[in-house]
Amino acid sequence: MVGAGIVGLAHAWHAVRAGLSVTVVERDECAVGASVRNFGHVCTTAQGGDVLPVAQEAREFWLHLGRDAGLDVRRDGTVLVARTAAEQAVLDEFAEERGEAVRPLTAEQAAGLLGLSPVGAVGGLHLVDDLRVDAPAALPVIAAHLRGLGVRFLWRTAVLDVVDGLVTTTRGPVRAGRVVLAVGHDVDRFFPDAADAHGLLRCRLRMLEVDAPGGAAVRPALLTGTSMLRYDGLSAQPSAAAVREEVRASRPELLDQVVNLMLTQRPDGRLVVGDTHHYGVTEDPFEDERSDALVLSEASRLLGADLVVRRRWRGVYASAPAPFLVAQPRDGVTVVSVTSGIGMTTALGLAKRVLDQTLVPA
Ligand SMILES: Cc1cc2nc3c(=O)[nH]c(=O)nc-3n(C[C@H](O)[C@H](O)[C@H](O)COP(=O)(O)OP(=O)(O)OC[C@H]3O[C@@H](n4cnc5c(N)ncnc54)[C@H](O)[C@@H]3O)c2cc1C
Repeated sequence: MVGAGIVGLAHAWHAVRAGLSVTVVERDECAVGASVRNFGHVCTTAQGGDVLPVAQEAREFWLHLGRDAGLDVRRDGTVLVARTAAEQAVLDEFAEERGEAVRPLTAEQAAGLLGLSPVGAVGGLHLVDDLRVDAPAALPVIAAHLRGLGVRFLWRTAVLDVVDGLVTTTRGPVRAGRVVLAVGHDVDRFFPDAADAHGLLRCRLRMLEVDAPGGAAVRPALLTGTSMLRYDGLSAQPSAAAVREEVRASRPELLDQVVNLMLTQRPDGRLVVGDTHHYGVTEDPFEDERSDALVLSEASRLLGADLVVRRRWRGVYASAPAPFLVAQPRDGVTVVSVTSGIGMTTALGLAKRVLDQTLVPA
């Protein structure tokens, strides 16, 4: 496996459990990419189409891996809050479609589950199956568990090329029968034609960590109206178009910066708040202060409190029209990238499918 983000580790986990001898080669001394910069939100329920079964399978694997690795996988679900009639209509339509996977909430019930009262909430939906992990803590725990299962890790070792089972690295060659290249958004560094064929772009995001107002314990993830424009299961609902028009009319800057206002809580109580999305083949090196200011003001408005920012960071993930990039540009090499910003939600399910189809001999 090339890359020790969640996609590489997911393949390593399934491969070693299938009896394969596995080496993970990672250029950094630990995972520092998208897989530790995210919300840790396993957003199963809001997925749609062909992604939903992958996410549902991944959810079961998170629980399994969590038990085996001693990982804290939280089962508090997500509370999706509606603050307008159009947003409430999306919740009603989604609830009608999804049945027992979701539980309609009054605004008071949503506040009770969340441990805080979102300002202006008219109703909510509990997405009961969603999970949450603390990503910066989880990745090292998973890597340690894999080491215990016999996976070999080569840290601070960059892969330069893979030809005929010979993986050329900065620390010498490694022989491999099959190679999974799980380098996130850097597919074009190896196979530009495959990246171009899939329309691969880099999506950069801004994230903030703030003190929880009043020290609130916010166990579920919190999603809002802008999330209804983002996740396929929600954006496919008939009323999602009205939500988009409402946002366009009242807060067009949220569409300009492609904001998904959401939050999760870290074990230390701080809230991870985000996010904005900007797309390009090459990531713009400069940050526009308006991005952070917008997320901060929207989060303050939602939580009814001034927020104290403790940390800020940028994340980058691969983005393309299709949710996943799986390609075999050379014999024995499978490139896998989650190109829809939902690798924490899907990687464990996707990896199983990729291995079943391409790597494990029948
Ligand atoms: C801010 C942000 C928030 C997000 N929130 C969520 C969320 O809440 N839920 C969700 O489901 N998804 C979320 N995502 C998406 C999710 O984090 C990604 O889809 C996922 O982490 C991608 O995993 P990866 O392993 O492909 O990439 P990465 O984690 O980036 O790992 C790729 C690894 O490959 C290594 N690598 C690259 N080139 C080489 C080389 N030549 N040699 C050796 N190693 C190399 C890198 O060093 C890196 O460690 C979010 C993403 C971001 C950025």
